[in-house]
Amino acid sequence: MPSYHAPLRDLHFVYHELLDADDVLTALPGFEEATPDLVDAILEEAAKLFEQEIQPLNQPGDEEGCRFEDGRVHTPKGFREAYRAYTEGGWPALSLDPAIGGQGLPETIAFMLEEMINSASVSFGLYPGLTRGAVTALQHHASDELKAIYLPKMAAGTWSGTMCLTEPHAGTDLGLLRTRAEPRGDGSYRIDGTKIFITGGEQDLTENIVHLVLARLPDAPPGIRGISLFLVPKRLPDANGEAGEANGVSCGAIEHKMGIRASSTCVINFDDATGFLVGPEHRGVACMFTMMNAERLAIGIQGLGLAEVAYQNAVGYARERRQGRSARGPQDPDHSADPLLVHPDVRRMLLTTRAFTEGGRALAVWTALNIDLSKHHPDPELRQEADDLVALVTPVVKALFSDLGFESTVLCQQVLGGHGYIREWGMEQFVRDARIAQIYEGTNGIQALDLVRRKLFLHDGRLPNRLFDLIEAYMEPRRGDASLQPFLTPLEHALTLLRELTAWLIREGSEDPDELGAAATDYLRIFGLVILAWFWVRMVETALEDHEGRDDAFYRAKILTGHYFLQRILPQIGSLAAAVRSGARLLMEFEEEAF
Ligand SMILES: Cc1cc2nc3c(=O)[nH]c(=O)nc-3n(C[C@H](O)[C@H](O)[C@H](O)COP(=O)(O)OP(=O)(O)OC[C@H]3O[C@@H](n4cnc5c(N)ncnc54)[C@H](O)[C@@H]3O)c2cc1C
Repeated sequence: MPSYHAPLRDLHFVYHELLDADDVLTALPGFEEATPDLVDAILEEAAKLFEQEIQPLNQPGDEEGCRFEDGRVHTPKGFREAYRAYTEGGWPALSLDPAIGGQGLPETIAFMLEEMINSASVSFGLYPGLTRGAVTALQHHASDELKAIYLPKMAAGTWSGTMCLTEPHAGTDLGLLRTRAEPRGDGSYRIDGTKIFITGGEQDLTENIVHLVLARLPDAPPGIRGISLFLVPKRLPDANGEAGEANGVSCGAIEHKMGIRASSTCVINFDDATGFLVGPEHRGVACMFTMMNAERLAIGIQGLGLAEVAYQNAVGYARERRQGRSARGPQDPDHSADPLLVHPDVRRMLLTTRAFTEGGRALAVWTALNIDLSKHHPDPELRQEADDLVALVTPVVKALFSDLGFESTVLCQQVLGGHGYIREWGMEQFVRDARIAQIYEGTNGIQALDLVRRKLFLHDGRLPNRLFDLIEAYMEPRRGDASLQPFLTPLEHALTLLRELTAWLIREGSEDPDELGAAATDYLRIFGLVILAWFWVRMVETALEDHEGRDDAFYRAKILTGHYFLQRILPQIGSLAAAVRSGARLLMEFEEEAF
């Protein structure tokens, strides 16, 4: 059975040492109490819960899966108790607004917990994760009356939230959706239609389920601009605001899936159900994007969490398992073979994963820090800058992290050889669980299009330029620092390549839109690798500082992993750039019949 230990030392490094998050956050109004001691205490308590209560459910939960009986979904054994422990501990409300019962702590702390919950169990994490996204959307767009009834229950985790977009014929293309909403004349709406693939659409963990449903009003214009957002509870609130009579919402089936088998994926039917409009009519997709953007980051973190737990278990195995001898001669002559760790190829797999998890963790926490700055900084210009950066990196975090998450779990599975393929060891579950993050919440292909078609062009390129200028401003005063040169030079070349490629893509894409689509996925990978390179140089710089002999092994490993990333992974951008420049013609000239 796999094990998990929350990477508290590395989180400490990123939060306190690399990003100086203590100083940044406690200077923001409302976060004065987020002192280093409080942050460490929260991380330690959360680690205990995830390591001891949630992670042990992950493998049995996968074996048992969710069960569908008479319209009800039963989550695997132990999930109800663990969910109760999670809500009673106040964890769902950590970063939520105190006005709805939240603890008002920074999002940055919640992001670090998000990694842990996903290492412990992605399936479990999805139930509270979606609720958090739904709360965010309702806070931004719902009426005060709806907020007063629903948000305190959702913040406490006694009611959960879902996101109901997908229909059998409408996945990526939401403009095709058919679910109907008709005004009843009393301020409510009659909702009819069927949604598929709804995560947590039915479960036995909460008293009520609050569905956020995209539907079409009778007078709606066709396509994406004719869609509105509705709140449709499974049970209608009674006069006391408790879950009352059943609404016209039922679960028709659950899906049998490759991974995340303890997360229910439901067909949800709305038959004469009562719903309430959220936000303006016909602006539903824009309102839903408040939830989707939060979810996209959370899905990226799934990849990070899974890569971390897979790495930990692969390293444990590579230390114990003995096969063959080191090419330099026996390293452990007392045994008939050396541990797997002596082999360069095994080290390649482990270091590739580690370079992603540590770099990804830094980028994730920095992104969360920018979310906090975008909401709480007193200077509107700085709020806007932080908001731009978050908007820019959201598709990158979602797609890069979920791709690297999957690739990392496969590498770690490979470290176990044949045992990695056997269920008992748990590695094949990590691979299966990691795969979905590349698909849902907008496929990674769609994330790449969001980056190249939207984010690059918004406000005349303001978003990418902000990031490029930030990296440039970091490099400028350090150019004379000899100890940093081996790290800065590859970053400098990479940024130059990315700037040139971006200019090329904007030019070519303005003439032929297929150029953007053809380049998108490779371009996003380059973009992500350059950001990770920036964080690696920053981490190395922090590790090179004088720590007075404390924790030398930790800092040495950090510097060596930085070398590994910059010398062995970052150069991939060269071949990816060649693929981007090969253009759309190679793809589009191929005749349809020839496929
Ligand atoms: C386990 C699971 C849980 C899910 N949870 C939820 C949920 O809670 N709520 C919800 O609403 N949905 C949910 N989904 C649905 C999920 O978000 C969709 O499956 C996903 O967005 C893709 O839609 P699709 O499956 O219809 O694929 P399609 O839209 O048919 O896409 C198929 C392929 O074509 C590509 N493609 C499509 N259109 C374009 C385009 N314009 N340009 C370039 N490429 C394109 C896609 O990238 C993809 O590779 C879930 C799905 C699964 C499997």
